Amino acid sequence: MSIKIGQSDKLNKLPPYLFVEIDRAKRQARQEGRDISDLGLGDPDQATPQFIIDKLYEAAKDKDNHRYALDSGMPVLRESIARWYKKRFAVELSPDNEVLPLIGSKEGIAHFPLAVLNRGDYALVPDPCYPPYKGGTIFAGGKIYLMPLLSKNNFMPDLSKIRATVLRKTRLIFVNYPNNPTASVATDEFYEGLIRFALENNIIVISDLAYSEIYFDGYRPRSLLEFEGARDCVVEFHSLSKTYNMTGWRLGWACGNSQLVGLLGKVKSNIDSGIFQAIQIAAATALDSDESFVESMRVMYQQRRDVLAEGLKSLGFNINLPRATFYMWSKIPRRFGSSIDFAKMLLDKANIVATPGIGFGENGEGYVRFALTVSVDRIKEAVERLKNLEK
Ligand SMILES: *Cc1c(COP(=O)(O)O)cnc(C)c1O
Repeated sequence: MSIKIGQSDKLNKLPPYLFVEIDRAKRQARQEGRDISDLGLGDPDQATPQFIIDKLYEAAKDKDNHRYALDSGMPVLRESIARWYKKRFAVELSPDNEVLPLIGSKEGIAHFPLAVLNRGDYALVPDPCYPPYKGGTIFAGGKIYLMPLLSKNNFMPDLSKIRATVLRKTRLIFVNYPNNPTASVATDEFYEGLIRFALENNIIVISDLAYSEIYFDGYRPRSLLEFEGARDCVVEFHSLSKTYNMTGWRLGWACGNSQLVGLLGKVKSNIDSGIFQAIQIAAATALDSDESFVESMRVMYQQRRDVLAEGLKSLGFNINLPRATFYMWSKIPRRFGSSIDFAKMLLDKANIVATPGIGFGENGEGYVRFALTVSVDRIKEAVERLKNLEK
């Protein structure tokens, strides 16, 4: 006997996972013992700084930290998040009701639509984008309205193109600057227009700020919460993952409008039971530390960026140097075919993994994303392999 197991309608509605082919090919290449340069992963290759690990170790030994944590997060962490926002963006947040720690920001981003969407409500989602914006909307029974991110608009959505019939049923808009995958940044004008648009149309803004600390050439990303009116409509998501090489630790937060932060907290109190306290204590230590670690990381990514850009340019790629994130979003010269064809060719012929743009949405077609999460030597090697391909 066996029961019939089918997947739910919501799982059926999720967009297809287009990296399957590449993932499979990568695994096989590794099994064959080929020396792969993996520029595919958006996951820092360096270790978490030692002072954070030391704090975790110390806090893990305290038995008071072994029990269920408060759903709303420890005051010590909420206070250090508020201090950090003040220091970094000159934005004042109340640690009591404008800050909510998360089990990584992906968790909060994916759960947030459950707090505000009803069946059939629209969420405005950039295309290409970080996949949880779509998944979270679908799980909440919402509908996705895609906003193309085009190179001619510097990869910012054109809000004037959204139809009035859609706007009437729209509850949410997702924005993510510095952007994954396009590595683009937002202008002040875009942010000002976005807040006006949200207030006029009664739309909640989700700002994903995961890459705010990885910036170059004197540019420094701003928080959307710095802008007038934001406190009325914005919830911003942040994370230690990229800033302190802590992707595996799972520690992020939501902050901004207290009602929005509170609604997310309500969803979460029905789903999880807080974050391991030792991790919260270590996270507070990270946020209260000086800039020296993060600055050294920026220098490292910048060197990698420059080496890869130089190499790709010499191969005829048209590259704009990104001013933030650890990605390069590069147009694929036409002779190489689709983004999947190109990524397969890179792997088969040059042992290089890169992410085909189509995997982030239809408007990603024609592009490839290189992650700067391998050493300069590895990047040089990858460029050499590419050069040999062209011979
Ligand atoms: C990496 C990343 C995050 C952070 O995810 P965590 O769950 O905090 O590790 C959020 N948004 C984007 C766009 C990312 O690339």
